[in-house]
Amino acid sequence: MNATLPRPRTTIINEAEINALLSVARRSDSGRVREVLAKARQMEGLDAEEVAVLMEIQDATLLEEMFAAARFVKDEIYGNRLVLFAPLYIANLCKNECSYCAFRAGNTELKRRTLTQDEIAAEVKILIDQGHKRLLLVSGEEYPKEGFNYVLRAIDTIYKTKSGRGEIRRVNVNIAPLTVDQFKQLKEAGIGTYQLFQETYHRETYAKIHTAGAKKNFDWRVTVMDRAMEAGIDDVGIGVLFGLYDWKFEMLALQQHIRHLEEKYGVGPHTISVPRIEPAGGSTLADRPPYAVSDADFKKIVAILRLAVPYTGIIMSTRENADTRRATFQLGVSQISAGSRCNPGGYAELGDGHDAEQFQLGDHRSLDEVVRDVASLGYTPSFCTACYRLGRTGADFMDLAKPGLIKEHCSPNALSSCMEYMMGYASPETRKTGEKLVDRELATMPGKIGETANELVSRVRKNERDVFV
Ligand code: SAM
Ligand code: SF4
Repeated sequence: MNATLPRPRTTIINEAEINALLSVARRSDSGRVREVLAKARQMEGLDAEEVAVLMEIQDATLLEEMFAAARFVKDEIYGNRLVLFAPLYIANLCKNECSYCAFRAGNTELKRRTLTQDEIAAEVKILIDQGHKRLLLVSGEEYPKEGFNYVLRAIDTIYKTKSGRGEIRRVNVNIAPLTVDQFKQLKEAGIGTYQLFQETYHRETYAKIHTAGAKKNFDWRVTVMDRAMEAGIDDVGIGVLFGLYDWKFEMLALQQHIRHLEEKYGVGPHTISVPRIEPAGGSTLADRPPYAVSDADFKKIVAILRLAVPYTGIIMSTRENADTRRATFQLGVSQISAGSRCNPGGYAELGDGHDAEQFQLGDHRSLDEVVRDVASLGYTPSFCTACYRLGRTGADFMDLAKPGLIKEHCSPNALSSCMEYMMGYASPETRKTGEKLVDRELATMPGKIGETANELVSRVRKNERDVFV
């Protein structure tokens, strides 16, 4: 199947059902809200009707009760760890016209750049030297002459690049929808998560803002995770670009997409991303998003997702400023990017700067500053990549995650990878904060988990690297 061929309309998203749920939920009372919150605390997820009930909460007391439930679920399942990564933009060429993005084909003000493999290696070396272990490869939807092979070579370059005792241990990708055959090649290349955002699940809005190129095809995009799953990639990340359409509609559509994947493939998405539209060069829509999401609603979105899909990671990027990011950590976020650049060559400062970037970032702090902040707030900065490297992905991961077993692996691994960062890359101030946190965690971690964590951390302190269970 080719992206340019028409595809039959898929039934993954049922708009009539979403609209019906939205109108019923408006009439919910506090009793019903509390029933839903009690169910959410059992950590078995929520159905679409229950999500709709929570979205309508206005009362401050009920809102606080919902946030408390989200904090409870986050803590039970994820403990206090936060996984860190950085995006790596390899090219900003694009054939599409997405009206919110600076990379769109018609934006003549953008400086176009495709990194060579040597330039990619130079970027990766910088990120390794900062202490990163996980990267998210990002590109516009047009590759140089060699086509998709360019992406495969880039992944190979990333894994082969070493610096000192460091290396990138997991490469996730956010690139345009692929065919099943291309996904098989991506799997061969050893990717972690395949991530793609639907932008908006509202068909009519989608058609208005995607006016040229393969991305015009809503169905080709909404079925992308089906093709990934068919190709054997069971670790997928979905998302919505908030601000394009009513966030409540998008939340219920996300639920439908998740249920579709669970029912058809036995496993839902590994992560959900919640980007909000940021100003972007050459885009008036990005300056004034038609359905801008307020900070208050944004917090609601994170908390409701945590309650609705407790075992799915929630990713918070540096589109958001430091304060907003902090506020969402306790409500359910499990992964954050740090020290990001969204222009190809941005880490090595190849010279294009803002003239080549995709949108304006909200958090400009370095990885070291973010790690220090996270640790001083009591969260463990984690660089762990164990699950993916031990084959704990897809349904295997979910089986492990559901009874809360994952904590047994993740908490010790978070601490050992955190210690590896502190010893190898942190500034003296950050190291002091980080080591204090690790010691405190080790002292309070109970039983078998505590023993494992102590053993892993002491091996790192004795100069071993890359230790995990
Ligand atoms: N080109 C591919 C695509 O569109 O799916 C993959 C990479 S694209 C660079 C990654 C994501 O950036 C898009 O899916 C979109 O959600 C997001 N994005 C684009 N413009 C944005 C903006 N102005 N503010 C925030 N996020 C934006
Ligand atoms: Fe191209 Fe992706 Fe930007 Fe759309 S969002 S213009 S497809 S890079």
